[in-house]
Amino acid sequence: MTRRKYVVGNWKMNGLTAALDEAGAIFAAAEAYPSVDVALCPPFTLVGAMAAAVPGAAVGGQDCHAADSGAFTGSVAAPMLADAGATLVIVGHSERREGFGESDADVRAKAAAALAAGLSVILCVGEPRAVRESGEAIAYVLAQIAGSLPDDADPARLAIAYEPIWAIGTGLVPTVADVADMHGAIRAKLAEQAGAAAAQAMRILYGGSVNGDNAAELLGTGDVDGALVGGASLTAGKFGPIVAAA
Ligand code: PEP
Repeated sequence: MTRRKYVVGNWKMNGLTAALDEAGAIFAAAEAYPSVDVALCPPFTLVGAMAAAVPGAAVGGQDCHAADSGAFTGSVAAPMLADAGATLVIVGHSERREGFGESDADVRAKAAAALAAGLSVILCVGEPRAVRESGEAIAYVLAQIAGSLPDDADPARLAIAYEPIWAIGTGLVPTVADVADMHGAIRAKLAEQAGAAAAQAMRILYGGSVNGDNAAELLGTGDVDGALVGGASLTAGKFGPIVAAA
């Protein structure tokens, strides 16, 4: 089974209207690599404008609420993202799990709501440093998948992003052997939970300090189908080489 490479930029809480020019440059540069799927997830405030400014580009949210509407001040629902022009959403990022107390059940509900709204999903998992050091990283991540993967998720519309928390924004990266072990274990867990065919079709991205220097090695590792990129996704100059490496 050949899985198309997928490179997704997570702008986090960065970007004003002026940054739309950079998004245009990123998507224009990506056109040179038609075999790679490229997406950007800007802050909510830029989703509609970016989707309008770059027609046909894959633009996504960084989170969504599990409900379609209601009294949830400050939240954004999946149908609202779709209505604004988004085609995907990140759920379960560690900055949401840790900073906003999101549980696996919360993440599962958000992923299900996003799929129901017609969005694709990037479902994030990953262990803290202490868990990595204790030797329990694989068990920890597989438990996150057991708790947060919705039933019957279409593998064409849901990708897993493995992001060790200690590698996010730190410049630290696991060894290629550790990445291969984790991604292989995730694929085996997906087979157990969703069936062999779905597991083969579902993309598993690596995230955590990916840059133009390490992307080729990481993206060439077994069972790594792409990258979720934070800091290096803000400019075409830094993101372009990662797309090229994919
Ligand atoms: C992220 O936050 O998803 C991420 C991978 O960040 P960075 O690339 O900056 O480590």
